[in-house]
Amino acid sequence: MFNKVLIANRGEIAIRIIRALRELEITSVAVYSDSDKDSLHVLYADLAYPLYGDREIETYMDIEKIIKLAKNVGADAIHPGYGFLSEKEEFAKACEEAGIVFIGPESKVIGLMGNKIAARKLMIASGVPVVPGTEEAVSDPEKAKKIAAAIGYPVLIKAAAGGGGVGMRAVQKEEDFSAMLERAQQQAASVFGDASVFIEKYMDQPRHIEFQLLADSHGNIVHLGERECSIQRRYQKIIEESPSTALTPEIRQKMGKVALAAGRAVNYQGAGTIEFIYSNGDFYFLEMNTRIQVEHPVTEMLTGVDLVKSQIRIAAGHPLPFGQEDIKFNGHTIECRICAEDPLNGFSPSPHRIKGYRSPGGFGIRIDSGVHLNYEIPTHYDSMISKLLAWGNDRDEAIARMRRALREYIIIGPKTNI
Ligand code: ADP
Repeated sequence: MFNKVLIANRGEIAIRIIRALRELEITSVAVYSDSDKDSLHVLYADLAYPLYGDREIETYMDIEKIIKLAKNVGADAIHPGYGFLSEKEEFAKACEEAGIVFIGPESKVIGLMGNKIAARKLMIASGVPVVPGTEEAVSDPEKAKKIAAAIGYPVLIKAAAGGGGVGMRAVQKEEDFSAMLERAQQQAASVFGDASVFIEKYMDQPRHIEFQLLADSHGNIVHLGERECSIQRRYQKIIEESPSTALTPEIRQKMGKVALAAGRAVNYQGAGTIEFIYSNGDFYFLEMNTRIQVEHPVTEMLTGVDLVKSQIRIAAGHPLPFGQEDIKFNGHTIECRICAEDPLNGFSPSPHRIKGYRSPGGFGIRIDSGVHLNYEIPTHYDSMISKLLAWGNDRDEAIARMRRALREYIIIGPKTNI
């Protein structure tokens, strides 16, 4: 097992990883930007080092500095969390080259799954159903228009390198297509540094259903059921739950099998998620996330499996201690993402000092938070400040508990979506 692990992240996920490391008796090393010097992840970690940079967001993206620090402090591994460097092929590669274990899959798998066009192609070749659409990037406007007409409106133009709900444009009718394509290409180039876009059918009444995978370096792979994440705003998840109310036991079993096949197709190692769109009884591969996800605690509460500790053990070369038949699903879990946003002002970010704070508790409640009383929410990062989870024996009980916990949750200072 590792002796020392550096966490290349901040906020609630950094704390989540520190907690897992402590339970495994591994020394945790936090890094922090200037505005994060009083953050909880700095206080929770065994060791913490500043990573001052000129621009706050980029502090956690500075590959060279992070690798150098990891070497200097003698870390054997780096956990990237989610966001930031977690899906950057070059970072995983830099770890590999520096002889530091990257807690995640191989860099080439990150590269392959990070490009939605490449991922779609590989899944098609492996017999996994994908959302109807183009196999290659489209660039010529006239050709693209013909393709869109053949797919049938409405369509979705997506950036190959897109993520976080950014870089998607729904087009309802042919007249709007050319202008939307141009805008999508421009945005893809400026935000992701890659102008390539492709076209998908805009699915009718889509439901986002994803399967959690764990795969070790000994060829074992299991899935830990689904999470339904259909409640979104601007293509970003806000409420997630499991089990999904959309699936029959037969479809669930079928999707689980396909998710395992998708993981095997890339020789996956670590924790990963296969995202599907479910529409009118059929399901289609959307993308694979090669990292721990925000909503992972939903699965943890349902199965009792600690996904972050599993990631660390897998990266250290341990075999999975369970097989598919050992995974049991108990009850129902719901997660709400709590964001410092103003609901009466278009959900714009509300980064202010927390002047009053009372977090919920009691039976069946879990809260993963990165904030505390007197904490000044920095302006530079994501507006999500905590995750509130409720478990119940069934969905009704989970909903009642979530309502009760939301009533208990008080945050004064910033506006929130509570
Ligand atoms: P990102 O990588 O930016 O998160 P995804 O491809 O995962 O983008 O899609 C994000 C969300 O957008 C999905 O969860 C779903 O709600 C919606 N979406 C994506 N593709 C489609 C589609 N073809 N039809 C309908 N909705 C879609």
